[in-house]
Amino acid sequence: MLPFSTTRLLGRGKTLLCDPFKRICVNMSSSSASGKRLRVLIDMDGVLADFEGGFLKKYRARYPDEPYITLEDRRGFWVSKQYGQLKSDLCEKAISIWRSKDFFIDLEPLPGGVEAVKEMAKMDDTDVFICTSPIKYYKHCPYEKYAWVEKHLGHDFLDQVILTRDKTLISGDILIDDKPDILGVEPKPTWEHILFTACHNKHVSLSPSQKRLMSWSDDWKAMLDSKRQ
Ligand SMILES: [Mg+2]
Repeated sequence: MLPFSTTRLLGRGKTLLCDPFKRICVNMSSSSASGKRLRVLIDMDGVLADFEGGFLKKYRARYPDEPYITLEDRRGFWVSKQYGQLKSDLCEKAISIWRSKDFFIDLEPLPGGVEAVKEMAKMDDTDVFICTSPIKYYKHCPYEKYAWVEKHLGHDFLDQVILTRDKTLISGDILIDDKPDILGVEPKPTWEHILFTACHNKHVSLSPSQKRLMSWSDDWKAMLDSKRQ
């Protein structure tokens, strides 16, 4: 026999969810809110997939006579902005690279990332999701992001893929992401942002409370453990 509250939930969920007290009970029953499980959100480009390296390789192949920016000299999150500052027409040329077929699927994994995600996903009381923002030119990117995950992490990992343009809406305990400022409609996201070091953000200074993961060789397990306490 089902408990009364469960019967109500199954039979009259709409009524239940309109009741503020019972809505709290439902939320508390989720494993995340109970504090027992850790939910880790992991960005894809610049964290698992080598966007910057893949871009530079394809840009130089397509535009061999144009100037380019070495990874050492990359500054700022937006590649197209820095290329546009170098020469005005290079902004559009840069954009043409990641809009092209096979750009996202061809990205090489960053060292240790795939292995870390696989290991993390096997850890007790840990839920891992890939949380990635597709470009708005959607002809190839969303498909190729799924294909990349399947290729490198396996078909079953597709259940753990979140495509969103606004990561503040996604609940989690940790978000590992190379973008220094992650903004959206939710002013207080549930996650703590851990900045993953990339060529474009290594000179960005963080506030004392913010954390960095220098690479996948860095102690990501300690960062997860610090959030479990
Ligand atoms: Mg990224």
